[in-house]
Order: sequence, then C-alpha cells, then structure tokens
Amino acid sequence: MKIRSITAPNPGPFTLTGTHSWLLGDTAIIDPGPAIDSHIAAIIEAMPRLDTIFITHRHDDHAPAALPLKQATGARIIAPLDIADVRVAGGEAFDIEGESLEAIATPGHTREHICYLTSTGALFTGDTILGEGTTVIFPPDGDMGDYFRSLATLRARNPRRIHPAHGPTRDDAVALIDEYIAHRLERERQLIDALGDGAKSTAELRKQIYPQLDERLHRAAELQLTAHLVKLQQEGRVREDSGRYLRAADE
Ligand SMILES: [Zn+2]
Repeated sequence: MKIRSITAPNPGPFTLTGTHSWLLGDTAIIDPGPAIDSHIAAIIEAMPRLDTIFITHRHDDHAPAALPLKQATGARIIAPLDIADVRVAGGEAFDIEGESLEAIATPGHTREHICYLTSTGALFTGDTILGEGTTVIFPPDGDMGDYFRSLATLRARNPRRIHPAHGPTRDDAVALIDEYIAHRLERERQLIDALGDGAKSTAELRKQIYPQLDERLHRAAELQLTAHLVKLQQEGRVREDSGRYLRAADE
C-alpha cells in the first residue's frame, strides 16, 4: 500500500513543521489535522476516493478536519472519540485495500490516544512518538505511567517504520522507541537526584534539571516534571505534601 503525507500549515514549537496527515493508498487517511481550508482542500484533491478517516487523539492539530472532510466526501470516521462512526479503544483491525490496519491503545500523551499499525510494520504514532524531540505528557490527562507502558506495548510489536504526526519518518523504529524509553528513564533519574539534593517544589526541580530554559517554556517543563512526579508517587517512591516533594527513601 502506498503511504504518502500532506503536512498542514500549522508549524510551531510542539507541532514542529506542522501536522502530517498520512494517506494510505487511495482511500484512507490518519489524522486529518487542523480545520484549515487549504489543508482540507489539499486532502480532497489528493484523495478523490477517500472513504475512511482515522484519528489518533482529540487534539486540535489532529482531529478537527475530520468533520468537514466527512461532510465533503461521505467518509466514515474511526476514532477513540464521540464524533466517530466507529469508536475504537484498541484491539480492532480494519481492512484498507487488502492490508490490515490495527488500532493499538496507547494512553499517555492523552488518555484516549490510539496508534495504528499495518500488517507490514508501518506504525502511525500520532503524538506518542515524534520523529524528533520528545512528546509532552501534561497531567492530569497525560499520564507518565501509562506512557511508559504504551512505549513498551509498541516496542513489543516490533514495528519496521514510524510515521509520526510531527517530524521525520523513522526507519529505525525499535531503536527510536528505545531512545524514548531511555530519555524518560534518564529524566526520572535526574528528578530523583534533584530531590536528593534538596529541591522540593516543581520550580526548584525545573531550575536544577533545565537550568538554561527559555522562560516561555517554564510552565511546560514543570508540567512534564509533574507527570514524572505523579508516576513516582503511584510507585510509592515519592511523597507530596502541599506542593513539596520528598523521596520516600529519605523519610
Ligand atoms: Zn497531541
């Protein structure tokens, strides 16, 4: 099956060059993207036989073009969302021009996030894995414990190629997943060390772990650290008391 992409004109710090809408053969698309008229028109022009719209998760740079595209083409929507004609939760398989596409539950970035895997090993990761950099896990919707489990789930499927919603396509799929896991474990280790050094609030932890960070990214960094702290609390390794965090081992 031929795989192509059209990138939406929505570049930014989290979307990188913009959202990639992935075209599968002549009939299916994964993540139609933001509801930008020129992007929707480009998809309709490239896919005159579009009949199925898959969505990975609800975020504004992934899902909103689904409804206008459905209206224009009559395509059905398959998604982990209320707007879907077929609602998925992971485990479902669909036939796309003779090739199978499986929905895999990958909570973490958002609670409902779904990745899609073809029978030939092409993995569409949405925002769970990006082609470069890291994805954001913002609690309470984002859950770091779930995210680690989802990365393990994807690795166990041994994909051949990763088609992310943002950043370049990666042929080193398993190595990239390993890098993602190693990066998160390293961040977790830094956090444990910073707590041992006496940092207690998320602002103190952020200063120690990201000392040179642009002020505009402080809140995002603190939310990402909070996601790690929630996971460590779930595991009984960290305790929180009125916004101050302590290692359980130090008590
Ligand atoms: Zn997202």
